[in-house]
Amino acid sequence: MVEIIAVDGPAGSGKSSVSKQVARALGFGYLDTGAAYRALAWASSHGFVVGLEDNPDVALSGFEYSISLDPDYFWVRVGEHDVTESIRQPEIAEIVSSVASIPEVRVFMKNLTLRLVEGSNLAGVVVEGRDITTVVAPDAKNRILLTASEEVRLRRRSAELAPEAAKNVERHVLQRDAQDAKVVEFMTPAPGVKLVDSTELNFEQTVSAVLAAVR
Ligand code: C5P
Repeated sequence: MVEIIAVDGPAGSGKSSVSKQVARALGFGYLDTGAAYRALAWASSHGFVVGLEDNPDVALSGFEYSISLDPDYFWVRVGEHDVTESIRQPEIAEIVSSVASIPEVRVFMKNLTLRLVEGSNLAGVVVEGRDITTVVAPDAKNRILLTASEEVRLRRRSAELAPEAAKNVERHVLQRDAQDAKVVEFMTPAPGVKLVDSTELNFEQTVSAVLAAVR
């Protein structure tokens, strides 16, 4: 069995960069589960997956997805297409929550995630997303919910973007969290899940807090 360290949290909580660093520190793999939802949204909007709303199981059977679990060499592919960059575009962020709200998609993603972890041949994988502590790996020994105040999350997200895009960040981040929260609870920790609040912590301190929670 490959050990899973489960990390959930809202947009801008720092969960991707923190999870990557935790994976490096432990010599584990890193799995960004949001990338699969984004890649599916990309595939659907580019005609590589057809009929997702009407016949999701058939549509999903044509979704050819692969992702790197190496925290230092990250790539995401749909078939032969490298979508590492394109899945970060605002057009994808706009549509990803609606793709993620389809129940068949969520079942598919859970199975995909567990398959990727088990097939990794690694000692452990830091798995990061919205529903990892509650739905995908509820039995993992180490489960962490990473949060930060709304103000800090918005500030961090804006800092990652060009000034023009940063103007829209508040609307986008809050809208996406609100839409995602209808489908999965990721703002309060489930029983047995440790809360790490990074509002007052810098990056290194947050990584240390997560490592302390894990050990
Ligand atoms: O983490 P990231 O922002 O890349 O996730 C993109 C979207 O994928 C989220 O807004 C959410 O709709 C969906 N998602 C999810 N469950 C996960 C990971 C992501 O529903 N475990």
